Amino acid sequence: MKIFNFSAGPSMIPHKVMDKAQKEFLNYNGMGIGVSELSHRTIEFSDIIDKTENNIRKLMNIPTEYSISYIPGGASLQFYMIPANFLINWWGCEYIHTGYWSEKAIVEAQKCCYVRVSSSSRDANFRRIPNLRKWKNNPDSSYVHITTNNTIEGTQYHSYPEMEYGVPLVADMSSDIMTKVTDIKQFDMVYASTQKVLGPTGLALVIMKKKLTERSYNKNLPTMLDYNTYIHEKSMHNTPPTFSVYMLMLVTDWLLEQGGIETMDKINMLKSEVIYEKIDASGGYYKNLVEAPHRSRVNIVFRLPTKDLSELFIHQAEEEGLLGLRGHRSVEGIRASMYNAMPLEGVERLVDFMDKFERTHG
Ligand SMILES: *Cc1c(COP(=O)(O)O)cnc(C)c1O
Repeated sequence: MKIFNFSAGPSMIPHKVMDKAQKEFLNYNGMGIGVSELSHRTIEFSDIIDKTENNIRKLMNIPTEYSISYIPGGASLQFYMIPANFLINWWGCEYIHTGYWSEKAIVEAQKCCYVRVSSSSRDANFRRIPNLRKWKNNPDSSYVHITTNNTIEGTQYHSYPEMEYGVPLVADMSSDIMTKVTDIKQFDMVYASTQKVLGPTGLALVIMKKKLTERSYNKNLPTMLDYNTYIHEKSMHNTPPTFSVYMLMLVTDWLLEQGGIETMDKINMLKSEVIYEKIDASGGYYKNLVEAPHRSRVNIVFRLPTKDLSELFIHQAEEEGLLGLRGHRSVEGIRASMYNAMPLEGVERLVDFMDKFERTHG
């Protein structure tokens, strides 16, 4: 039986990538040593890091004024590094509050400065993105922070706020980076932990306008918390998580082979439509409470009529080879995460299972 992993993260990695990594784990490039045994100061590793950067630039169409860095500590370390590096005064950075992860980002920023939460969808139980049509950023904000896809709540921005007064826009894209076509020029900085869309844990991919680091008023940052360290030393000031970077290279190779982000965008759209259609056609047996224009294409959250039925659903799905469907502990029910590595076939298997389950227990 073919297994499909719907886990939110760590999540599914393309089979072809896993296969190649398995071989090269023992013997990289015919060297007779494994990729994890390779010194980061070798030409071979230097090629890995360069190729990864080239792949990412190609895939996301990133101009040279942006740097690309790999920083340990996941997205959660970025929650602190961003205010620590980008504050131009102590009284203002601005956050749009859309759920669990944006809240974590706010809490870390509050350790550095006064944080303005200039918009929030808490009143709507985070079942939407706030209406930003009339929203305006503050002229004296050091930056504005958004979370483009809310992994736990299953909401997603399908257009981004327009910035005024040259205030930078910073985005946590951990769970939707490279899953849809995005114009990097709308952002001054984008970051993503790698274990959702891009491979295994261990890193945050950080893409930012190099100019941003000149703004900071804090000139005395610890070396490892200063973006300049990563930019000027190509993420090799100290020993980087070499295996994670290598996996990022393989995943981005695979993405290019598939036809890049445009192809992923179309497939991801189709995959999510198949599931939402099933949910909406079930007459309320399966319920997704997110307002339709803000539904996430990659994390689909739904409920069954009772908690017991949800438990049974998760249990029986596992027996059928559909893993990782349990929702986050803060939101009950089911969550199907389907990033780039999840093929349409896996989603069809899930929909068939939903059909069968509803017929048996409806
Ligand atoms: C998973 C996730 C995080 C946290 O990532 P870590 O690598 O565990 O720190 C932050 N933001 C979003 C949107 C996420 O999905």
